[in-house]
Amino acid sequence: MRTFAPTNSVETDMTDRQLANSELGFLEYDPAPESASIAQLRPNYGLFVDGVFTDPGSHEQFTSINPANEEIVATVAQASAQDVDRAVTAARRAYDKVWSKTTGAERAKYLFRIARLIQERARELAVVETLDNGKPIRESRDVDVPLAAAHFFYYAGWADKLEHAGFGADPRSLGVAGQIIPWNFPLLMAAWKLAPALAAGNTCVLKPAETTPLSALILAEILQQAELPPGVVNIVTGDGSTGSALVDNPGVDKIAFTGSTEVGRSLQQRVATSQKRLTLELGGKGANIVFDDAPIDEVIEGIIDGIFFNQGHVCCAGSRLLVQETIADEVLRRLVRRVEQLRVGDPLDKNTDVGAINSAAQLARIRELSDVGEREGATRYTSSCALPVKGYWFAPTIFADVAQSHRIARDEIFGPVLSVLTFRTPEEAVAKANNTNYGLACGVWSEKGSRTLWVAQRLRAGVIWANTYNRFDPTSPFGGMRESGFGREGGRHGLEAYLNV
Ligand code: NAD
Repeated sequence: MRTFAPTNSVETDMTDRQLANSELGFLEYDPAPESASIAQLRPNYGLFVDGVFTDPGSHEQFTSINPANEEIVATVAQASAQDVDRAVTAARRAYDKVWSKTTGAERAKYLFRIARLIQERARELAVVETLDNGKPIRESRDVDVPLAAAHFFYYAGWADKLEHAGFGADPRSLGVAGQIIPWNFPLLMAAWKLAPALAAGNTCVLKPAETTPLSALILAEILQQAELPPGVVNIVTGDGSTGSALVDNPGVDKIAFTGSTEVGRSLQQRVATSQKRLTLELGGKGANIVFDDAPIDEVIEGIIDGIFFNQGHVCCAGSRLLVQETIADEVLRRLVRRVEQLRVGDPLDKNTDVGAINSAAQLARIRELSDVGEREGATRYTSSCALPVKGYWFAPTIFADVAQSHRIARDEIFGPVLSVLTFRTPEEAVAKANNTNYGLACGVWSEKGSRTLWVAQRLRAGVIWANTYNRFDPTSPFGGMRESGFGREGGRHGLEAYLNV
């Protein structure tokens, strides 16, 4: 077993995982792997255009690998600009001839059908997501897939009630939506994009991320099963060049993008000279603010969930912990101990808490920023958990003694790395939380509702959680401000992005 000691030894009983756990009276778990055999993936996938899969042999191909063991999961088509154009043409035809003439009640029927089929194929989708992304099966099974179904159910309910959504008496759809999504929640992001767009009467061309295209391709099979009219949803796989072709295609009326701030910024410039609508959901550096009156046991779990959920590959992750100085030592001590208990390893094991990092490139970025954190003088605590030899892995890490000027307090790491800062007064907490270019999400932990509201009103972020973190619900709008982007997904607000209002 590989052992990591805390880099700078402070008051911690964390030396070796098993020793620590046995001292604390914790039992090790036996392996409880979910079977991968339920994922009936094809070896090669073409594009999903006009209701059918194209011949994989007619395209350039790339492989999608399992980040937990670097094995190839499937080979997928790389869509060219011509392929994207064919998909946009199919979407336009479907919009003009079918979908724009389909009543809201009829559209709702398809969305309900898709939602139910996602539920029927939930176990398979969860396994595929875990194989392709590296996230623990516990999360894909209990969060990603149920929430994806919930989004389709929720927006099915809106499809025949658009005139009551607060966007005028007769809100109209936009036309063809080009939708580009990242790799951190592949199926869920597809649902966040497709469900409101379809409910509002648009047709879609979706581009999944190049490292995680597979659950979207299973979703394409589900769309076929649901007998969604051909061309209403088209799925084009590929890398940034495919996304770029979609953004530049003149047949697209709206671009919805989730991904890095850097790419989002460039899309904004490119779309600015066209009539295309744009919404951007970009990065974040969420502050999780803990006051000294907060219930400490819940706080520890909330902080852990806020940063280690989905390996920290979460745009709204609570990656900056702001803890009141009076309880900072105790919170840090307990966090370090709790991190040591996180089970890191096989994502298909039902007991795994932290899975694999999605790609070699992302792992390199996490390593680089963590090294910078050490060089800048922060104190590093890294779990002593054993990491698998193959695949992309990063042990859960906490940095204490972080200053606001440190890069680990400013840059989005997008990995299982927490930066801990302290504050004395509510004013200082707000000032430090807002000292970022981002503005996606924050958490506030306090027993006093008045204090929570006082702080929440002063935070510059699109989402603020009180005494919880990383809670998502299709009825609730999600989105950012400043360098975290603009536009909202989810809730009634999520319809606005796909209506001509
Ligand atoms: P990215 O922005 O490069 O990729 C996101 C999506 O955009 C992918 O589908 C990608 O193929 C596509 N894309 C890339 N370049 C494009 C272009 N020029 N035109 C159109 N589409 C393009 O993000 P990434 O490389 O997957 O991750 C890099 C960083 O982005 C991460 O480290 C993290 O900071 C951030 N990120 C944020 C989110 C989020 O939900 N906000 C999600 C993933 C990544």
